[in-house]
Amino acid sequence: MNLEHTPQPHADLTSRNTLGLPARAEWLSLPEDDRTLIALLQDTRWRSLPRTVIGEGSNLVLTAEIPGLVLCPQILGRRLLAEEGDQVLVEVGAGEHWDDVVAWSLSHGWQGLENLSLIPGACGAAPFQNIGAYGVELCDLLDSLDAVALDDGRARTFRHDECGFAYRDSRFKSAERGQWLITRLRLRLNRVPQLQLGYADLAARFAALPEAQQTPAGVRELVCQIRRSKLPDPAELPNAGSFFKNPVISSVQHNALQQRFPDLVAFPQADGKVKLAAGWLIERAGWKGRRDGDLGMHAQQALVLVNHAAAEGRHTVTGADVLAFAARVRDSVHAQFGVTLEQEPVILP
Ligand SMILES: Cc1cc2nc3c(=O)[nH]c(=O)nc-3n(C[C@H](O)[C@H](O)[C@H](O)COP(=O)(O)OP(=O)(O)OC[C@H]3O[C@@H](n4cnc5c(N)ncnc54)[C@H](O)[C@@H]3O)c2cc1C
Repeated sequence: MNLEHTPQPHADLTSRNTLGLPARAEWLSLPEDDRTLIALLQDTRWRSLPRTVIGEGSNLVLTAEIPGLVLCPQILGRRLLAEEGDQVLVEVGAGEHWDDVVAWSLSHGWQGLENLSLIPGACGAAPFQNIGAYGVELCDLLDSLDAVALDDGRARTFRHDECGFAYRDSRFKSAERGQWLITRLRLRLNRVPQLQLGYADLAARFAALPEAQQTPAGVRELVCQIRRSKLPDPAELPNAGSFFKNPVISSVQHNALQQRFPDLVAFPQADGKVKLAAGWLIERAGWKGRRDGDLGMHAQQALVLVNHAAAEGRHTVTGADVLAFAARVRDSVHAQFGVTLEQEPVILP
């Protein structure tokens, strides 16, 4: 094996997670191509060790040293694969930064990813929780992906319908969690814009744009503006984005809650259930902008748990502290509304 790809022992992950939690990898590998990755997975010296994949660490709560081999793929590459009528098929490597790919696709006139602008993280992680924002999810654009099995390095392609996509979920996060490393995505994009302006705030800002800017690039600009005004930049105030998923409840429970809270924010779903805005529940439970010691819920976006200590350069808050704080938020929301919040970031190990 190439020496530069020999895994690094006891590697510090503090700067590799956006919550700024102090943690290490027993062995950290940064494979830059499929051959190196597969050789490592099949190498008898590493065969008995557990394997974990990380990307840019923007959706992780690291609680301790991650045992075994931690793989952070650096596989790069963006290319046009095919032009099919009004659509194009593009392929991107797992190690590409997601937002760079959004900008790159729009610069070529390929539309579809603009609502997903500025979501942190690497492309390889995007299918894991089926990233979504402003009415668009990755699954709306994903054609297929390539992955390798973590246990023996065998390669496999998953078609869109084989990925088990759901709200912030996929087969890679649920049924086959920890079994695959995604190496490459293929996305089907449009040459003729089909803008998704279902979100009232986005639609209103778009309508106010001069006609010449009512383009996919214009939507990207607006999404970036909205996100920058509402979400803390992890580089300034470490966080992992939305800390809780929007809970989905039955219409019966929703009706009962709405009687008690007429201003409850809720979105009816196609299956008759109702999705609640977790941020609204957290705010009404009194957590918006509240700081307790080194942790808090953000003042502009109640869903975002922030690490004030790390913002001040102290990496003293641990993953256990974060989980204990989150449990207090979850318990108080449950006590007030009878709704259980589910955590979005992945806890490792
Ligand atoms: C400020 C902020 C805003 C955010 N906004 C949004 C948003 O609007 N919508 C949204 O959906 N998410 C959002 N997120 C969450 C996060 O950006 C996404 O989940 C992103 O896809 C995580 O990418 P990552 O590279 O950082 O993955 P990591 O956090 O490193 O890993 C996340 C999970 O993905 C798995 N994984 C990573 N790479 C691979 C791979 N190559 N193969 C298989 N599994 C892999 C890991 O094992 C882990 O379980 C936000 C986060 C932050 C900090």
